[in-house]
Amino acid sequence: MHIGVPTEVKNNENRVALTPEGVSELVRHNHTILIQAGAGAGSGISDDEYRAQGATIVTTADEAWSCELVVKVKEPVASEYRYLRPDLTLFAYLHLAAAPPLATQLVNNHVTAIAYETVQQTDGSLPLLAPMSEIAGRLAVQVGAYHLMRPVGGSGVLMGGIAGTPRAHVVVLGGGVAGTHAAQVASGMGADVTVVDVSLPRLRTFENRFHGRIHTALSSPMRISSLLDNADLVIGAVLVAGGTTPSLVTSAMVETMRPGSVLVDVAIDQGGCFEPSRPTTHDDPTYTVHNSIFYCVANMPGAVPRTSTRALTNATLPYISQLAAHGWRTAAHLNPALASGINTTGGTITHPHVAKALGTQH
Ligand code: NAD
Repeated sequence: MHIGVPTEVKNNENRVALTPEGVSELVRHNHTILIQAGAGAGSGISDDEYRAQGATIVTTADEAWSCELVVKVKEPVASEYRYLRPDLTLFAYLHLAAAPPLATQLVNNHVTAIAYETVQQTDGSLPLLAPMSEIAGRLAVQVGAYHLMRPVGGSGVLMGGIAGTPRAHVVVLGGGVAGTHAAQVASGMGADVTVVDVSLPRLRTFENRFHGRIHTALSSPMRISSLLDNADLVIGAVLVAGGTTPSLVTSAMVETMRPGSVLVDVAIDQGGCFEPSRPTTHDDPTYTVHNSIFYCVANMPGAVPRTSTRALTNATLPYISQLAAHGWRTAAHLNPALASGINTTGGTITHPHVAKALGTQH
């Protein structure tokens, strides 16, 4: 099969969908790989490294997009809509619940679009979202701690304090993959951390793993409101797979928060879990609401491409190999996890949560 890897065009998106190791594996199985020149540069991978493993380097995005299977990191942006067509299988993060215009384009152009973030195993885990959630969760604490510093508008508290001073209070909404990694890093920096989740079994895992060093709370508007009264850093990491994120922090709650507090909405790619959240970019990542700083970058792992490209492709390569070996229909039949990744095909939205989030227009 011909597999195309275009250069990412989203703001500060330095990841690439395939590494030289991935090329080597696919070429070994007689596939033809077209990599757009410079696609790996942001991740420290040169065209020559791809060439050495048997990839063909093409100079234009048009050539990479002409392949029957295109693997990307982020969803197509408007300038890429012209490449969408019925015989295309697209494998990438799509987040369609938060992107109705893209969903319409994929449907109208009869693309078979398989979303990394809805590839789901029978135990409910999301193997292609997990590595990026791990990274985003850890980064959320890094950027949160930075923005708490006074010179950049924060309240001026050090995460762990020192002896005789208070620690920063960190509230993590959603104790899944991103939330666990955020809580672990924040706790490791010495902050006082509370994780909020709707799932008691999830909260129990925190008790078992952290032995009381991380507090837990069952999610309710009242509990969240009282936690925010004393919070320095709030990290939003809730998810309803494929669906729109529930909004858990209202603008009125933010109004009562300490000036210079920081809210990092990791879940912004699914619509965000704070009412005043709107997507931002790495170029201009923050804005202020009621004296609190909001950070809502939808592609956080793009900031650490040397880590995230490898973390992503470690997880996606087995699925890319299956798609390449069998075509999407048979691959989805053989692997139910891959089947759950299909968001659109033949002019319809096929993923139930995505269809529900987008209403009945498709
Ligand atoms: P996950 O499924 O592992 O965890 C989500 C958690 O949210 C679950 O434990 C669930 O019980 C909990 N939850 C659901 N509804 C809740 C509610 N009302 N109150 C409290 N908790 C609730 O998901 P994840 O992999 O950790 O991903 C979290 C979010 O981070 C997703 O939206 C994902 O797309 C996003 N993400 C963003 C970036 C980025 O760059 N911004 C990168 C990776 C992941």
